[in-house]
Amino acid sequence: MLKEVNILRSHGSQYVKNLRIQPVSGIFRGRPVISGDIAGDEIKLVSNLCPVKAISSGTGAIDLGRCVFCGECAFALPGKIRFKNDYRIAVNRREDLVINPGLDIPLRLNDGEIRKEIKKLFRGALKLRQVSAGGDNSCEMELAATGNVNFDFGRYGVEFTASPRHSDGIVITGPGGENMAEALQITWNATPVPKIIILAGTDAISGGIFEGSSALNRHFIDNHHIDLYVPGNPLHPLTFINGVMDLIGIYSK
Ligand code: SF4
Repeated sequence: MLKEVNILRSHGSQYVKNLRIQPVSGIFRGRPVISGDIAGDEIKLVSNLCPVKAISSGTGAIDLGRCVFCGECAFALPGKIRFKNDYRIAVNRREDLVINPGLDIPLRLNDGEIRKEIKKLFRGALKLRQVSAGGDNSCEMELAATGNVNFDFGRYGVEFTASPRHSDGIVITGPGGENMAEALQITWNATPVPKIIILAGTDAISGGIFEGSSALNRHFIDNHHIDLYVPGNPLHPLTFINGVMDLIGIYSK
């Protein structure tokens, strides 16, 4: 018995105590900061090299709903573009994912635009059904990680369910493949009201590297109110966790 206790003690603490302030590696690419004095020719350079056209050729702003966090722009202009390891980049307004030059401000949800019933009904427990709409299993793996022993999002009653009939909303990953369009609609129809929609990962938000492909059918995404946008390629579990905590009103610091 003493031997087992010593083994457990040697493992140390496996869970993240505070999901709000857990530090992550310095090489993690989270919120970008673009220098306010970025020149026109520099904007043109990085706009042209960005593989997903996430950088505006006019203003130099980076759209996190399109960015795949490859880092190429920061490698090309290390003095003008850098990615902080700030993982709290989930928002509830699509336009807030556009980061303009000269701004170094944390991204947060717009409280006034969160539907009243969300905090009222889901603060104590939120069950979600995940739908991979043409996903590559990267965001899906990170979402699964939110419930593991390290992140333990279940401590706040937030968990994934096997059936939409037992859920309070859906989490969509992947760019929205045509073959999943009907399944996505059926899943949504099977989810009881009130219900929420979360787009998890760059692919879900914009289509990512597949944006504009004829193999996509984003009709459902384009025609429903989105409650939470969680950027990342793939997303970090802490980005999803902090976004959902803000959405449902878990105010633990
Ligand atoms: S890090 Fe994002 S904005 Fe920069 S080049 Fe890659 S995809 Fe484009």
